[in-house]
Amino acid sequence: MALPIELRGHDYRYAAEQAVMAFLPEFGGEGDKLVSTLDGLCAMAELRFRGKDYEGRAEQAGPMPEAPLLRRRAQQKLVKESVFRACVGALGKLPPWGSLTGVRPGKLAARHMAETGRDEKETAAWLEREYSLSPRRAFLCARAAKTGLEVGDSLGEKDILLYVGIPFCPTRCAYCSFVSHSVEKSLKLVEPYVEALGREIGDAGLLTRELGLRVKAVYWGGGTPTTLDAEQLRRTLDRVAAAFDLPAGLEYTVEAGRPDTITREKLLVLRSAGVTRISLNPQTMDDRVLAAIGRRHSAQAVRHSFALAREHFGGQINMDLIAGLPEDSVPGFRAGLEEVLAMGPENVTVHSLTRKRGADLNGMDLRGLPGETVGQMLDIALEELPAAHYAPYYLYRQKFSAGGYENVGWAKEGTGCLYNVAMMEELCTVLSLGAGGATKRLLPGGKILRCFNKKYPYEYIGSLEEADRDKRALFAALP
Ligand code: SF4
Repeated sequence: MALPIELRGHDYRYAAEQAVMAFLPEFGGEGDKLVSTLDGLCAMAELRFRGKDYEGRAEQAGPMPEAPLLRRRAQQKLVKESVFRACVGALGKLPPWGSLTGVRPGKLAARHMAETGRDEKETAAWLEREYSLSPRRAFLCARAAKTGLEVGDSLGEKDILLYVGIPFCPTRCAYCSFVSHSVEKSLKLVEPYVEALGREIGDAGLLTRELGLRVKAVYWGGGTPTTLDAEQLRRTLDRVAAAFDLPAGLEYTVEAGRPDTITREKLLVLRSAGVTRISLNPQTMDDRVLAAIGRRHSAQAVRHSFALAREHFGGQINMDLIAGLPEDSVPGFRAGLEEVLAMGPENVTVHSLTRKRGADLNGMDLRGLPGETVGQMLDIALEELPAAHYAPYYLYRQKFSAGGYENVGWAKEGTGCLYNVAMMEELCTVLSLGAGGATKRLLPGGKILRCFNKKYPYEYIGSLEEADRDKRALFAALP
C-alpha cells in the first residue's frame, strides 16, 4: 500500500519515502501524512504523525548545479533533509547518524574526499554540517573513508576477493539471519556440501586463471567454517590452494566464530595451510547473555579457545562483540570489552544488535536492549578501544539495528583486514563460492553486476553447472 505522501513541485517520491521510513518506520498509520514541497532552492516537509504536526525545512547553500545529474542529486538531498528535520521533531532527538540513511556511509565521505581533496578532519566537519552527524560518528566515517581510499588505490582492475561460504554452525544463535544450519539438524548434508564446494572451487579457479584475475584476499565465512572437521577443513583448504595462484603471505581469513568448534588439530590445519587470520567471536563474555542468545558455550570456552589459538595458530585474531544483546547491561558490556582487550587480539569488531528477517527462528525472545543503552555501550567502545591502541578501519550500518547505530572494525596498527575494507566499500570484484554466495563484478565507474548461487545447501549441491554458467556469463557481459 502506498504511503500517504503528497509531492509538490517535484517527483522525488522515493527520496521522501526512504527518508521518512528510515527515521519513522511506523509512519503510515491512521491520519499520518507527509507533504513534501520543493520550491527553487528550498524544500519543505509538513509531517502529521500520530496526531501531531511537525515541519522541516532545508535550503540549498549556493546555486543549484546546472548539470542534470548533479541537479537531481542536490534536489533529492534537499527533499531528504527537509523530511529528516520534520522527523527529528517527531523523534524528539537527533539520530546518531543524522540524516544519513545508507549502509555504507564511508562511500559518501570517500566520494567527498576524492572530489574536493579535503582531508579527514575537514571531511568530518563537512559530515557534521551537511548531515548532522555527531562528532564521533563523523570521525568514524571520515576515518573509514580514508582507509577505503588507501585500499582502493592499492587495488588493480584484475584484483579480486575470494569468499568461501560454509553455512553450518554447531547450533543456531537466536539473532542469526544467515543461511546457517545447525549441524545437529543437518549433519548428513555436510560431507556432500564439502564435495560440491570442492568442485565449485575447481571451476572458479579455472575461470580466474582464464580471465587473468589475481586474488588479493581470501575470506571463509558462513556459518562457522570451523564446524567442519579437521579432515574436511584440510581438504577444502587444499582445494583452494590447488585451484588458485595464492602468493605466500596472502591475507587469508577463516571465521572460527564459535569456540565450541575449535580444536588444537583444526588450528594446526589452518596454520599449515597459510591462513593468516581467524575470527573468534565471543559476542559477549557473560554466560547469562550467551544462554539468552542460544549459544551453547561459556565465556570460559572463549578464554580457552583464545589461549589455544595463540599457542597453535600463530596468526592474527579478530574478536566480535555485540552491543544490545538481551540480558546484557552497560557494566556487563564494559566488563566483556575490557576482558577482550586484556586478551589482546589484533582486531576487535563491535556490532550493534540488528533484528533481521530470518532471525527469531527458534522462538527465543530477541528483544534486545533499547537504543539509548546500545548508544552508551558503543560510547564505551569509542573510549576504550583507542585508549588500548586500536584504530577504526571500516564500518557499516544495517537496517533495523538497535538505535540506528553502526558496526565498526578496530585494528592495532598494521593489522586491518583488507577484505573487510574492500568488501564493505565495494572496491573490487568479489568471487563468492558456496551456498548463497553473491558474486559481484565491479565495472569501471563503480557499477556492480551480480549473480547468486543457490541459497540452501541441499539445492546448492545440485546446481554447480548453473553456478559456473552464471559466473562465466557475468564476467563475459560487456560493461
Ligand atoms: S555463529 Fe553466526 S552464522 Fe552461526 S548461527 Fe550464530 S550468528 Fe548465525
